Amino acid sequence: MQIKSYLLDSPDYGRAARIWVYDQWEGLGHLERRGDEVVIEPFRKEAGSSALAKKVSEEGVRVADFKAALRHVDHHLKASRCVFLIQNISENREHDTGLLSALKAWAIDPQVIATGSVVFVVTSAVERVLDDFTRELVVIITVDPSSREERGRLILSTARELEVTVPDEQLTELVIATAGLNLHQLESILLETYFTEKRFSVGRIKVLKSELVKKSGVLEVTDPRATFEDIGGYQVIKDFIIRYIINVLSRPDRARKLGVPLPRGLLLFGPPGTGKSLFANALASEINLPFINFVTENIYSKWLGESGQNMKNAIRLAEKMSPAVVFVDEIDRFGKRSQAGDSASEETRRVFSQFLEWLGRPDREAIIVGTTNVPEHLDEAFTRTGRFDYKIPFLYPGQAARLDIMRVHLGIVGGSRPRVPLAQDEETLMNYLKERVVPKTVNFSCAELEEVVTRAKRSAFDRAAEAVGPEDFDGAVRSFRIDVRQRERAIRECLDQARRLTDDQAFLDDIQAEMEVGDRGDR
Ligand code: ADP
Repeated sequence: MQIKSYLLDSPDYGRAARIWVYDQWEGLGHLERRGDEVVIEPFRKEAGSSALAKKVSEEGVRVADFKAALRHVDHHLKASRCVFLIQNISENREHDTGLLSALKAWAIDPQVIATGSVVFVVTSAVERVLDDFTRELVVIITVDPSSREERGRLILSTARELEVTVPDEQLTELVIATAGLNLHQLESILLETYFTEKRFSVGRIKVLKSELVKKSGVLEVTDPRATFEDIGGYQVIKDFIIRYIINVLSRPDRARKLGVPLPRGLLLFGPPGTGKSLFANALASEINLPFINFVTENIYSKWLGESGQNMKNAIRLAEKMSPAVVFVDEIDRFGKRSQAGDSASEETRRVFSQFLEWLGRPDREAIIVGTTNVPEHLDEAFTRTGRFDYKIPFLYPGQAARLDIMRVHLGIVGGSRPRVPLAQDEETLMNYLKERVVPKTVNFSCAELEEVVTRAKRSAFDRAAEAVGPEDFDGAVRSFRIDVRQRERAIRECLDQARRLTDDQAFLDDIQAEMEVGDRGDR
């Protein structure tokens, strides 16, 4: 919409020349202003000369086929100065539309250059529409996601048109909820919400936005689900995060006055299933920010040359939606810069550097929480000072933590799970778990403790009991096998990395004490 008004009002284009438009839905036409509206006036070419063709259409036929439109406008672009705006076309490059060969030819055609004609292609997926070679020949202009003020204005004007009332406090909420969208996307979301609900429902808008963002292929936005209450044990890490992250971020002015930098990056490392992702999610809800999942594997798309663009778009969008917690699971997937070299790894290197540059940018708004099970595979550049503010090791839970985790999954504490009916009073059963079950779960991960509870529930169901009792837990633990040596190795490795990555010995000592791990990683 904005580009159309711009073209019509521009002394160089609109007032001087004819503006051709091709739209998949409307076919070929001219751009015209009718009153306040900008419309596409369909172009009709003469029907064939046969009597039948004349009869079919007295007023000529519309040009709906894209290739026919390209051929037709080709002649005009060369004859005199004009503009050709192409929009709503197929975004699948594997299907040959004729666009690429036309753009390549026009970009170097002396007649087109001499007339000063211009071709605009509007798309939300440059990399889908243009190949590498054509991209070199054209100028790519990225439309930024909107600013707060722009969104506020558009929401109000759309509300006026649709006769929807938007109270002030709802306006603020809508402006925040729609961060990261460009105006075109915002307008379509508002219309869609209106047509389904006859009002601008914030809940519905959030859903539509997360669907839209998901289409970017790289980001997924969710409202975080877990809180610190849903995390059993790990008190030392909770206290650390509350003190150094949550408290600082919730009093930014005080922090700035004292010159305390606002934390923007956390690296969580340790064996799988120890709650790293859960912590990231809970951090977002504790500081009341959206949780954006950065899906690393989707960066590397099937078309060579796209990854860099994907990465750039994802970073730009994540920043526009920030402040938010941007969660990068298995950050080691970015690989290392030193990996040897065909063109695919050239691409990998480019993406790696873009990410690193973002991570090191002092004005970054996004709070990046990265996790890895294999910190030793991370490129040194990630762990260098200035990239992540804190690097936190996650070990297998100690005794007290293990009981706490089971309590979470029985719904006794935390708000995310329904309470499971217990066969004994709570205290008696918890004592039983503490004395008889927990000691048999040394070096279990949190995820495995969750599974123990699930198996106990299943066992109660199998024996047609109404509630979960001690025998269910006994059976559940007995059905588990873990590789003790492998676990001990994992602990030692995690501790080695912890010593390498953090210089906060007191913090490490506290973690080891809570997790009941000796200096050499034994228990
Ligand atoms: P990681 O990211 O370290 O591989 P996750 O956070 O994905 O581990 O944990 C897997 C599952 O285990 C979580 O979804 C959660 O249900 C459970 N879990 C992990 N840590 C805890 C904890 N401290 N308390 C309760 N449940 C936990």
